[in-house]
Amino acid sequence: MEVDYIIIGQGICGSFLSWELSKEGQKLLIIDEPRPFSSTKVASGVINPVTGRQVVTTWLAEELIPFTWDSYSQLGEHIGEQLVEPCSIYAFPPSEQMREAYNKKMEEGPGFVKPLPIETTELYHQYFNFRNGAVEITPVWLIHLHKLLKGWRQQLATYHTLWEEKFDNTQLQIQPSHVSYKGIKAKKVFFCNGIDTFEHPLWSKLPYSYNKGEALIADIPGLPFKHIYKFGITTLVPWYNNLWWVGSSYDNHFTDDQPSETFRNRKMAELELLLKCDYSVIDHIASIRPATIERRPFAGFHPLHPTAGIFNGMGTKGCSLAPYLAKQLARETLYNEPVIASASVQRFSGILK
Ligand SMILES: Cc1cc2nc3c(=O)[nH]c(=O)nc-3n(C[C@H](O)[C@H](O)[C@H](O)COP(=O)(O)OP(=O)(O)OC[C@H]3O[C@@H](n4cnc5c(N)ncnc54)[C@H](O)[C@@H]3O)c2cc1C
Repeated sequence: MEVDYIIIGQGICGSFLSWELSKEGQKLLIIDEPRPFSSTKVASGVINPVTGRQVVTTWLAEELIPFTWDSYSQLGEHIGEQLVEPCSIYAFPPSEQMREAYNKKMEEGPGFVKPLPIETTELYHQYFNFRNGAVEITPVWLIHLHKLLKGWRQQLATYHTLWEEKFDNTQLQIQPSHVSYKGIKAKKVFFCNGIDTFEHPLWSKLPYSYNKGEALIADIPGLPFKHIYKFGITTLVPWYNNLWWVGSSYDNHFTDDQPSETFRNRKMAELELLLKCDYSVIDHIASIRPATIERRPFAGFHPLHPTAGIFNGMGTKGCSLAPYLAKQLARETLYNEPVIASASVQRFSGILK
């Protein structure tokens, strides 16, 4: 059998790359081993235009905000699901320094941060303990990742070929003109399989950096299920079934990918201090983010083996970067229009050769 492209992995990267190539009429084989705690399945699905303790504008935010709205709306329309919801973050600075950082951002002029009206701030004293006021971050998108993965997977199974199994690196043959895998011939193969990508000798020298993140899934019946609430590193995000996603952590020195007792105890202690309403913890999830040392993704083709592509390294920003760069990577693949230099894997051609 012949297809145009083989895509390994159907997280947010494999989903958007396959969607872009599919729209161009390409025939695909997707190989994805179902894993309940992939990075995309554990993510809260927030696209936030500001980031960090210094409250700086996220890389490419001005372009990504409108672009991602359109991307998720179009894919959602195609699969018959609402995948993106406008939202706002009510941020309660946990310290005076953090409050200062938000003030500084607001002084820069109209942007993504504005004061939360006093009456609204007052209302939240019944739910939370806080003492440095509150600001609103907007626009923010909330992405329904589980609906996306499920809905698009059904389309892949119907209109393309989907193998639900672990990809076996030893079975892949990479030739200058094509690739083959278990009897399937294709023009190119794309590695979109999260952290497993870096186990393949083609990509193992890239400067990747795994980063573990965890979240509690909590029932907080009294809390208005309207906004995202942010308290420094702790964020409460509306999740499925009226539950809250409470995260997260950014751990570069971990020993396994399992939910940890340390995280659970720390977040529960934080919730005790923070919440004035009752809550109960329903679940605890963890995953490893495919991050990179210089916090920029890897998209493009291997300098020595141009039939092998990579789309990976989204770190903490998969929801916004994957749709944007998938379109570019599809255009590089089909029309030779290169991916932006700061995300192109070509910047590492020296170490890949
Ligand atoms: C706690 C947490 C919170 C996060 N919150 C956000 C957020 O709010 N916003 C945001 O933008 N980003 C967030 N992220 C980051 C985001 O999840 C990642 O950037 C993104 O999901 C990475 O997607 P991916 O497709 O590269 O990898 P993955 O989601 O890991 O997908 C890889 C896919 O490949 C499959 N696979 C892996 N290995 C193999 C193999 N050998 N054979 C076959 N199949 C394989 C897996 O089953 C999976 O389906 C968060 C991450 C974590 C952990």
